[in-house]
This record gives sequence, structure tokens and C-alpha cells, in this order.
Amino acid sequence: MTGMTTSGRPFLNRRLAEFGTTIFAEMSALALRTGSINLGQGFPDTDGPDEVREAAVRALRDGRGNQYPPGPGVPELRTAIAEHQHRRYGLAVDPDTEVLVTAGATEAIAAALLALLEPGDEVVALEPYYDSYAACIAMAGGRRVPVTLRPHDGAFRLDLDELRAAVTDRTRLLLINTPHNPTGTVLTRDELAAIAALAVERDLLVVTDEVYEHLVFDTSEHVPLATFPGMRERTVTISSAGKTFSFTGWKVGWVTSTPELVTAVRSAKQFLTYVSAGPFQYAIAEALRLPESYFEGFRADLEAKRDLLAAGLRTAGFEVFRPQGTYFITTDITPFGEKDAYAFCRALPERCGVVAIPNSVFYDDPDAGRSQVRFAFCKRENVLTEAASRLRKAFNG
Ligand code: PMP
Ligand code: GLN
Repeated sequence: MTGMTTSGRPFLNRRLAEFGTTIFAEMSALALRTGSINLGQGFPDTDGPDEVREAAVRALRDGRGNQYPPGPGVPELRTAIAEHQHRRYGLAVDPDTEVLVTAGATEAIAAALLALLEPGDEVVALEPYYDSYAACIAMAGGRRVPVTLRPHDGAFRLDLDELRAAVTDRTRLLLINTPHNPTGTVLTRDELAAIAALAVERDLLVVTDEVYEHLVFDTSEHVPLATFPGMRERTVTISSAGKTFSFTGWKVGWVTSTPELVTAVRSAKQFLTYVSAGPFQYAIAEALRLPESYFEGFRADLEAKRDLLAAGLRTAGFEVFRPQGTYFITTDITPFGEKDAYAFCRALPERCGVVAIPNSVFYDDPDAGRSQVRFAFCKRENVLTEAASRLRKAFNG
């Protein structure tokens, strides 16, 4: 709904006018209204580990974090994040100067872009892009320059020549996301090395959204961009507890980078939320120290769910792009003679009581993703089976 003052000037400024309501809110509301199975918005239908939830309760009861925590985040969490980066990736991160806790990755993205961009700066981002990237670039007065991931051999791939060609003298930063939402692409070591070489050659900053770092399947591996030569000093790495620990509602995210870049991002963060919710930070500090078996179990569970839903979608007649990471499967609806993902997703609840996300909204080029539909598989097995069965009956008899 839009509005305007009597002079005719819209309430919503020009920077945000194109964005409307996020597709996730729209489709979750549709699921609720129609009582459909929600494979749209990416949130699990079971909560994360009991001991992590209990740690939050304990923190609340013990009065830890009930008043404003420190701006950079509570020391326990910053230390746990630094240990995680070192243990997993061999990255040495100083918990005092090189970590910033944010209100989810969403705030980290906003704060990074607001801090690092001047109006008119160009941001090269992978397309389809997570919806907040476009809005945050716009809020910062930047210009987004998409580089489209294109289907190739059943998966979406980055064309490195296109990426190189997208960089101009006005480019300030590369906004990278791996594992990639919505396509499930995990950039390979070679691709990341080429991105890193480009960033060094053109002296670009890199903001890298790695919220699905623990969700990689088969033989794929997640390699942080910050580990490549010349990258540590120019990379802002973003992650979040929401995906890894299945507490998306807690909104605990973080940034790791150099002291100078963390200070810059904090300059924006302090005026967005000032600090992030306290008690959850203590709980996530404990979560990050869960044994390796937790991370492997979580990953294996989602890999099995990916296979279950992918098989169901294929049987129903969708063209399925097999994701190497994240908890999303992108499909194509052209085999049904359908061309418009948005119309398809709006009609889907009535056709069979399932909600999905049209990827078309994640593209600048309306034709590029027009027939792509995304399904989330971070749901209980019986829910996925039921959704697949409904889709099969609706589309394949
Ligand atoms: N980046 C990507 C790629 C995402 O899919 C999401 C969705 N949750 C976010 C950032 C936001 O993370 P958070 O919920 O921690 O704000
Ligand atoms: N990241 C989630 C997704 O892609 C949604 C988060 C949100 O609604 N902002 O589905």
C-alpha cells in the first residue's frame, strides 16, 4: 500500500519505491491464509538443539545480557566466533577488534553497505540475489550491477568473464554469496581464487555473505573468500547463527574482518540497532562450541532432505537444479507449459496447498529468472513427503 502527502509526494522515498513488501513475507502470509505447506520462506519447522535453547533461558534468568550488551557483541560470543574461524578455516581473527555481532546477517549486510559505499558507487552482485542486497545498495545510494548465474549441466554457474567485464572504474565492491541463495551454487576454489585475483587487481572491497557455510553437500566444500591471498585485508565476511543452529528468530549474526573494516561497519551498525539482543548471544557462544558431530549431523540431515525433495519435485515434473549447498532447491516450471513463476506461486496454494518462492523477484532482468521457482527443504521429512505428493497429484496425476 502506498500513500502520499496532499502535494502528491509519495511517503516512500524513491530509493525504496521499487521494493514493496519482501517476497518472503508475502508468501508466508499466503501460506498462513490458505493453510498451505510453506516451502517458501527459509526457516526450519523444528527448533535447534535443546541445550542451546536452554543456554538462552539460563542467560535470561541469570541476568546476562538483559541490559545493553557491549556494542561489538558480548566477549564470550566474539571469542567463540574467532575460535570457529580458526578451527574451521585456519583464519586468525582477533575477538576484540576483528569481530562485530549484528542483528542477524541482514543487519550486517545493511551496515556494511551503508558504511562502505558512497552514493554512485557500483556494487557487483551475483544474480539472482538475496532480496535485501538490492534494497541495501539502494539505501546506501549505490548502483547494483548484476552478474547472472546461468544454468549449466543441471546447476547454476558463474561466468568469470562476465564478472570481470562487470567491473568498472566506479566499482567499489563485490558482493558475493556462497553457498548461494536461491540457486544452491557453491563457488569452487578455482572460482573463488579468480574472484580474489580480480578484487586484488582492481583494488575492490569484498562483502561476502556466507550464512550457509555449514550447509554444503556431496563433495563440495565451503572456502571463505578471506582465506585467499590478498583478501584478508579487503574482505568483510558475514555469517549468522540462524541457519547453522536453526534459530532464525533470534537474529544473531556477525561480521569478521580487519580492525579498520570492522570499525567502519560498526559506525553504521551503532545507529541501526546500537547493539544486538543480549541473552541470545551467550547461547550462540555455546552453540558455536558444539562438537563437530552436531555440524556433521545437521548437514547430513539436510542432505537427505534435499535428496527427498529433489526426487519428489522431479517425479512431479519440475526441472530440478541440484543444489550443492543452502536449504533451497531451484526448479524450472517450463515443463508444465508455465512461464511466469510469480503467477505460478500465487496460484499454487489453491492448486495443491503448497507455497514456494518465485526466483523472478531476485533478478534485474525480468526474463532471466521468469520461470524459476524455489522450494525450501529445511522441513520435517513427513512435511516434505506430503508436499511432494500434493505436487505430484496436481501436476503429474
Ligand atoms: N543472507 C542470505 C543469503 C540469506 O538467505 C539470509 C536469510 N536468512 C540472510 C542473509 C539473513 O540472515 P539473518 O536471518 O541472520 O538476518
Ligand atoms: N533467507 C530466508 C530465505 O531466503 C528468508 C529470510 C527473510 O525472510 N528475510 O527464505
